[in-house]
Amino acid sequence: DAWFLEWIQRAKPTSELMAAIQLGIGQSVGGLSSKPERDMLMQDFGVVEVVFFPGEGSNLTPAHHYSDFRFKTYAPVAFRYFRHLFGIQPDDFMLSLCDEHLKELSNPGASGSIFYITYDDEFIIKTVQHKEAEFLQKLLPGYFLNISQNKRTLLPKFYGLYCYQCGGKNIRFTVMNNLLPSTVKLHEKYDMKGSTYKRKASKHERSKKSPTLKDLDFMENHPDGLSLEKDTYDALIKTLQRDTRVLESFKIMDYSLLVGIYNLDLANKEKQELAQEAEQSPNQEQGYTPNPEITSQGHSGLQRGKSFKTRIGQYSTPMESIQGNRELMDDQDEDEDVPPGGIPARNERGERLLIYLGIIDILQSFRLKKRLEHTVKAMVIDGDTISVHRPSYYAQRFLQFHATRVFKKAQPGPTALKHSPS
Ligand code: ATP
Ligand code: CA
Ligand code: CA
Repeated sequence: DAWFLEWIQRAKPTSELMAAIQLGIGQSVGGLSSKPERDMLMQDFGVVEVVFFPGEGSNLTPAHHYSDFRFKTYAPVAFRYFRHLFGIQPDDFMLSLCDEHLKELSNPGASGSIFYITYDDEFIIKTVQHKEAEFLQKLLPGYFLNISQNKRTLLPKFYGLYCYQCGGKNIRFTVMNNLLPSTVKLHEKYDMKGSTYKRKASKHERSKKSPTLKDLDFMENHPDGLSLEKDTYDALIKTLQRDTRVLESFKIMDYSLLVGIYNLDLANKEKQELAQEAEQSPNQEQGYTPNPEITSQGHSGLQRGKSFKTRIGQYSTPMESIQGNRELMDDQDEDEDVPPGGIPARNERGERLLIYLGIIDILQSFRLKKRLEHTVKAMVIDGDTISVHRPSYYAQRFLQFHATRVFKKAQPGPTALKHSPS
């Protein structure tokens, strides 16, 4: 699918794609409001709605300055039900996606997918390949079964599947939950599969301001893993167990656990240092800025005068995903402006951490993968540790790695790991 990325970059300014996405989703979600809510039927999963957007406008669509295009919405009624289950009101969904510009994220992945994030940090748009979109369509009944039975899950939340069609080309994309708050400077970020084969971030990636590291980097940085309080550990591992069982049942492979780490103690130290610097150079007039990255990001929740507590992760937090409720959340200091619901943990130095995480990239099924990468050569090079393997083996190894290498159960005793107000 390299042509596809190339074509977008060469012939289509991504701003045109963004604008079309916003017009399309606005029409699609807005148009649904006239259809009364009802129970879902099996047929709803297979529906594809197509709307034509001519530049001059139509009775369904506004006029615009871009090339004429078609916009497809897959399973509109099914996804409306999913959004409802996930607690997203149609108006809020449209406000987040259509009312302000989208930001493009740099993607460390190799697939060439494009990622956009909404200005309020809630939603991620990811372009997917034809096969992946087809797979998601097939997955919908099973996905429905899972999310209606199981509130505690770290699987991606799919809020929509769409296709932008223009000049004979199709760009398919999903709308998902954002796992990592982009307005808060996470101290570390890992994309882990439980494999060691080629699982080290490239030099190029590591030179970035906020790199996404991999399994081997984690093992190097945290040889003792991250300690969680017993109940938290059990809840997390149980959730991962259920999720990997579901993924295995669909023969899905090659997914990752995305883990963002915010170090509260390090953040406090950074704040103090900045405050001291400000004192030492009193002629600098601007007030004290806790995190310079935040202000440089443009449309952050902070600049709009709202705190993270109300702006980010209002739909689900990691703590809710593993515990199934909003209580029992972190007891971090009230004035610490970080998104709520991070999972409390400690690193090897005993520093207090908040962890944001979720499973990503689940649209790769074994049969699709096999044709692409599961070659005899790859098997011979490293039959056991290569990241492409049977789905059950993949699931097992993924779980084992996270349950033993990444997360550890804190030893009970006087050094309780729960964050207590100090
Ligand atoms: P590849 O197939 O080469 O692994 P991809 O294009 O399919 O890559 P993903 O693996 O889905 O992309 O994601 C790539 C990176 O994008 C992740 O490592 C993570 O940094 C970021 N990312 C993906 N999904 C999310 C999400 N829901 N929330 C926050 N960040 C995400
Ligand atoms: Ca991936
Ligand atoms: Ca992928």
